Amino acid sequence: MSEMTPTRHDIMDRLAPYLLGVEKPGRYVGGELNTVVKPDDEVAVRVALAFPDVYEVGMSYHGFQILYELVNAVAEFQAERVYTPAPDFEAVLREHAIPLYTLETKRPLRETDVLAFSLPHELNYTNILTMLELGEVPVFSHDRTASDPIVIAGGHGAFNPEVLADFVDAFVIGDGEWALLQILETVKAWRKGQSPTGERQLVRYRGDGTRARRRAVPTFDSDEALNRRSWLREGAVSREDLLLSLAQIPGVYVPRFYECRYRPDGTLEKIVPTHPEVPAVVTKTNFDLRTHWGSVRPVVPLMRVVHDRFAIEIKRGCMTGCRFCQAGMITRPLRERSPQQILEIAREGIRNTGYEEISLLSLSSADYSQIIPLTRLLRAEFAQRGISLSLPSLRINAFDVELADEIGSVRKSGFTFAPEAGTERLRRVINKVVDEERFERTIEEVLKRGWRTLKFYFMCGLPTETQEDLDGIIRITEKAIELGKRYAGRNFQLNVSISPFVPKPQTPFQWHAQPTIEELERIYAYVESRLNKRYASLKKHNVYQSVIEGVLSRADRRVCSALYRAWQLGCRFDNWDESFRYDLWMQAFAETGIDPHWYACRERSRDEVLPWDHISASLGKDFLWKEKERSERAAVTTDCSTTKCAGCEACDFKEVKNILSAKEDGLVEELRREQKRKPEVPSPVSRIRFTYARRGALRYISHLDFARAVTLVLRRTELPLAYSHGFNPQARVQFAPPLPLGFLGEQELVDVWFTEPLLAEVALEAVRRIPLDGLEWLEASTVPLSAPALGADVVAADYRVAVGTDLIPPKLAERRIRDFLAAESWPIEIRKKDGTRRRDLKRSVQAIEWSATGSEVVFSVRMSFADNEHVNPVVALGHVLGLDLSARTHAARITLHLRSKPAPLLTA
Ligand code: SF4
Repeated sequence: MSEMTPTRHDIMDRLAPYLLGVEKPGRYVGGELNTVVKPDDEVAVRVALAFPDVYEVGMSYHGFQILYELVNAVAEFQAERVYTPAPDFEAVLREHAIPLYTLETKRPLRETDVLAFSLPHELNYTNILTMLELGEVPVFSHDRTASDPIVIAGGHGAFNPEVLADFVDAFVIGDGEWALLQILETVKAWRKGQSPTGERQLVRYRGDGTRARRRAVPTFDSDEALNRRSWLREGAVSREDLLLSLAQIPGVYVPRFYECRYRPDGTLEKIVPTHPEVPAVVTKTNFDLRTHWGSVRPVVPLMRVVHDRFAIEIKRGCMTGCRFCQAGMITRPLRERSPQQILEIAREGIRNTGYEEISLLSLSSADYSQIIPLTRLLRAEFAQRGISLSLPSLRINAFDVELADEIGSVRKSGFTFAPEAGTERLRRVINKVVDEERFERTIEEVLKRGWRTLKFYFMCGLPTETQEDLDGIIRITEKAIELGKRYAGRNFQLNVSISPFVPKPQTPFQWHAQPTIEELERIYAYVESRLNKRYASLKKHNVYQSVIEGVLSRADRRVCSALYRAWQLGCRFDNWDESFRYDLWMQAFAETGIDPHWYACRERSRDEVLPWDHISASLGKDFLWKEKERSERAAVTTDCSTTKCAGCEACDFKEVKNILSAKEDGLVEELRREQKRKPEVPSPVSRIRFTYARRGALRYISHLDFARAVTLVLRRTELPLAYSHGFNPQARVQFAPPLPLGFLGEQELVDVWFTEPLLAEVALEAVRRIPLDGLEWLEASTVPLSAPALGADVVAADYRVAVGTDLIPPKLAERRIRDFLAAESWPIEIRKKDGTRRRDLKRSVQAIEWSATGSEVVFSVRMSFADNEHVNPVVALGHVLGLDLSARTHAARITLHLRSKPAPLLTA
């Protein structure tokens, strides 16, 4: 590290001048609710959980939250988070030589012990290289030394890890929960042994001195069998020793200990271990959901993210057996949580987050064996508190009207269905059987109950697809439109989404050719030409992106060079339409001698060695091939959790087997007591005005995001908050006029309504118990229910704005302010999204003073709120001084002036 390279101590200081100049600065500041930061001297191993997409996407990824809590529950481990910087922030980091850092301790990635990437999608892979380089971690595994972090990766992408083999030191195959803890234990022991001051710890190989057992049979990772333990080999000192130790952990694949040999025709001949102590085949690990609650104290973002709710994983695994679906295949067998456990998780999670929505997460939530009793149970507990339920993934056959009623009883949003294919025959080919008559009945019932927007997902280019199957897509949409018009008239909206079939590793379709771009474009054009565009909108997934996804999905190790070259050429965020560069990818393939068509659009034979043959998802290759053959006969394989075993080999039928909550738990006590209560919304009887200070990272989030964060804090207090009426009940909270982005607030105001009489001291004490970085509750007082709305009551505010003397010398400031005060009027133009407005600044600025302190000129400005449009005081000051002050100031709102005089404030 060079002497000039910033450390964690000054990264935020270095960034401060640029943060307000980038889009959504809240992505980069941390300080969210439930963030964990441990004292440095208590941390033995530090892991940065890295997500290769922007903050708002990564924060919605449930697996990330599970690992964050799991690791932080261990006293001497610290999990931190890092997300891919958007291109504008990447440019700032590069321009000012600031390393990419973790959100918790603002530590450069190079200073962590382990960097653990999630691999949710192939089109995120170039972002991994960006994060490594920005974090000052060598991009290539072979360039890393003992002082660099160990780079690991897990998630769906790890089931074909070869395309990242040059960059990632070790992959976790399967459920990552216990495997990650064991990796951290092993790294801890290794670091301890390395310490020049500490005595070298020679941890015995596997605890009992025996060699690692090859995992021929998959087992559930029970606490006893795979609890936190070190796998460090005796005498392990070098980084190579450590990696060899990691390769002993069940489910961990270290690519450097495997060699790929190729035939003259370019296909693989074999993949062989180069060290006698690594397994020939690495088998995935399974996690038993019943042994752990998962995420109950997730980090709650301060800004809006893709999925902003409390998520509960109700089951893992989906036994429908869709033949194109990698997620369904690699997560076998089925493991359901009991309704009782889900209820307890929900209670704890809502208490810890204050969220207004509970999402029941899984690959196919409506297939959960007790879905109706579960939704009733949760509704009985939470509906009165305005907390809604959502099921993110629905399969038509599993969906029924009763379930629609249960979900719709609190909040109605659009309904999503994924028939995937247009005809019964093709749906049998892919093993996603949908009874069309029942489907129509369900649509009808959903529309009758007031739902107005439907969303259909289809795939195209599926194996054996014909013109008739495409016509089937049109027929289904026509039927839905006919029903929509009948029940919803003009309000009906159908959103149809089509995306290309991409063959995935570890599925029965892994041998198939992917359709070419020309074929896909022809299909798109046909569907588009026949769709009723008056009622249906069509969203087409980018076919060029699909081809790159197809190449990376089934790539071997040779494609690493093309991935690296594409990244060097500038490929970033390949999953975003606006930044995806097909031309650069093609250039990278050409320069590295990779034929993308050979990887994506080539049919494989049964005996071809596949690049992931040494990675086992516990599924027999024979089973997958048999399923492929069955698909060619349109033969259906039934759900093995409710019918008979299909012989996929995922179970050992002792420890590892399908676990249905219905069979094990029966009816829970709460269900017996459950009453069909209509949610009532009690009226407010008291109103309390809080005064608070808003500082630190909170200055970088918008007013809407801040208001939401404060509302979540209020909800977490469990005080009797009052709610609005209607389908979408909101807590009754009213803020003073918004604070501009980047401003601190010294004495801000918020009014909160309650359904019970409440002492202001009690309320103040309750909110103070919920910590949020940068939010300080100062005072509370009771306000009459009939008092004017806070927004209308604020007539003026005092601001303090500090500007460097390099920008405005004191003498010049004095002259400009004198001119302003002497002027009759001061017309300015303010540019808004919807046009330019003219205003007289003399009406907005009620008073202005200044003083010089060392290197700054500090202005005190009183701005009026009397006009409808309040002028940003920094903008106003810029007009007075004749300067562009954007992002060059320190600004704070000091006081709010009210028209009415509120009840005396209670000083705590
Ligand atoms: S082994 Fe049999 S029961 Fe177990 S997941 Fe596979 S098909 Fe189902």
